[in-house]
Amino acid sequence: MVDASPGASQDAPKRSARLVLIGPPGAGKGTLAENLCSFSFDHISSGEIFRGHVRNQTSLGQRLEKSLADGQLVSDDLTLETMKKWFWSRKPNQGFLLDGFPRTLPQARAFDEWLESRSLKLDAVIHLYLEEDAVVERIAHRRVCPKDGRVYHLLYNPPAKEGICDDCGTELIQRPDDREPIIRERLRIYRQKTEPVLAYYREQGILLTQDSDRHAAELAKTVQQKLQPFLAIR
Ligand SMILES: [Zn+2]
Repeated sequence: MVDASPGASQDAPKRSARLVLIGPPGAGKGTLAENLCSFSFDHISSGEIFRGHVRNQTSLGQRLEKSLADGQLVSDDLTLETMKKWFWSRKPNQGFLLDGFPRTLPQARAFDEWLESRSLKLDAVIHLYLEEDAVVERIAHRRVCPKDGRVYHLLYNPPAKEGICDDCGTELIQRPDDREPIIRERLRIYRQKTEPVLAYYREQGILLTQDSDRHAAELAKTVQQKLQPFLAIR
């Protein structure tokens, strides 16, 4: 969920941490964000912000729609225009856990400038790491019900009857994006774009790298513990 309303969670005594979450597709970013949110952070997904603009058919949304429909990465210019709007719509003391932005070096640099202009800094950047083969195994075994969207994993969470949705009996499909050659290509692009971003934050001393190959609850607990020193020094 995007927390765009100005008064949201105003009365909760939340520590307003400013965090970025980076990781390959299939690394469990969404789940981690949800679990960390239950402690003290608002989860902001840039993809969700993009889709919100498209749903509302704003002028940005009309431009974003083209990129998203083609399955390409949204350009730096369009991403920055959209995320700048989001950034300035927030109060300076509102915390966030950003997922999906910044994902290129120019985006990371521009984001730092916006933060600086409000005398703010990122507390930490959480880098979820997962071996390429593990990513492929997680995603390539994924099957979805085209009718109700339920997601299965052939090894860890298979349907009762092979190839059939437990809920509605519809034949399961593999999303075109989830096929192995496409995953490997997405990972190649991911590495190419994000390596410089990771190096950039590593240099600033705010990068927290965590192997994500573990149970979701344990992962959230570990990351939460590792975050403590970053949040304490501000
Ligand atoms: Zn179904």
